[in-house]
Amino acid sequence: MADVQIIREKLGVHPDFPKKGIVFLDIFPVLRDPILTELMISHFITHIGTVTLPKSKQSKIDVVVGLDARGFILGPLVASRLGAAFVPVRKKGKLPGETIQAEYMKEYGTDIFEMQANSISEGANVIIIDDLIATGGSARAAGQLVKQLGGNTLEYLFVIGLTFLKAMDTLDAPAYCMIESE
Ligand code: IMP
Repeated sequence: MADVQIIREKLGVHPDFPKKGIVFLDIFPVLRDPILTELMISHFITHIGTVTLPKSKQSKIDVVVGLDARGFILGPLVASRLGAAFVPVRKKGKLPGETIQAEYMKEYGTDIFEMQANSISEGANVIIIDDLIATGGSARAAGQLVKQLGGNTLEYLFVIGLTFLKAMDTLDAPAYCMIESE
């Protein structure tokens, strides 16, 4: 689709960041352009309306969960268009009040994600959003947190999927990547 191609061309590509051998794909150049930002968010909204909801036989999304950190930018933009709540998943120690935790694997060792304990109601329809899926460790941890609170994850949404890593098959719900990268 034309909108996807325009967004793909605007992504920043940074070889050897944050360390040698990694090519970092950056959505911030897209966000610097309000028209492209609108295109990107509208693309997700169209996908949700035409694929996510009909496929899962649900009429609405109750909660958009965004992952630390770029999911905090995409999530509220999508949530406000859907009339849904936005709920953040943050690295340990950053959220006030009672929290629940899930551990996930990073390249070296583990990290812990947290969500506020009262943030999702039992049976709520949830989508989980982030800029990029690589190994899927962070998305899986977010999915576990939603499940712990009784939420029903309908789909995972990403701007970019490193689909050769095959992480999308390891999630507990379907995943959609706007752009597939090798
Ligand atoms: P995963 O947990 O291995 O799937 O890694 C995904 C997480 O790492 C997401 O929160 C991404 O924001 C971040 N990440 C990994 N590689 C990149 C990249 O090339 N660009 C932007 N974010 C990345």
